[in-house]
Amino acid sequence: MKLKSDEPKLKIELVPSTSWYDNLRKVLPKSEWDKIRKRTYAKYGHRCGICGAEGKLNCHEIWEYDDKKHVQKLIDFIALCDMCHHVKHIGLAGILASEGKLDYDKVIEHFMKVNNCNKNAFEKHREEAFAKWREHSEHEWHVDLGEYKDVIESNSKKL
Ligand SMILES: [Zn+2]
Repeated sequence: MKLKSDEPKLKIELVPSTSWYDNLRKVLPKSEWDKIRKRTYAKYGHRCGICGAEGKLNCHEIWEYDDKKHVQKLIDFIALCDMCHHVKHIGLAGILASEGKLDYDKVIEHFMKVNNCNKNAFEKHREEAFAKWREHSEHEWHVDLGEYKDVIESNSKKL
């Protein structure tokens, strides 16, 4: 996916509440998910695809949203470190923080470091992300699994 130069390197991406899609890990047999996961980690040289951190990685789905047709399309996967992954799912990060399982300030600090910005820029980006999420969540989304459609449908437990 091409990023516009004025967009931050690490962005918040919220899946619409109206999308029935939760995550691939839950609908694929573990062996299939592991294949995708391992291939993704290898592709990114076992480093975070955004900040380059080593260590524990998460396999994150990259979606493209067509705002006219309301199609949510799976276009790729990226390897992400825990902190970049928390930024992507900032809503979940907030819940984990409220349960005492995560230091939310550390997540903000990570965003500021990777994007070389201040806290105001983070707050603004977060507001925009939630505004977009609210707008997206007013529509029903059709999920297009792209090139992963066949493997997912032939292996899926509940699709
Ligand atoms: Zn990272």
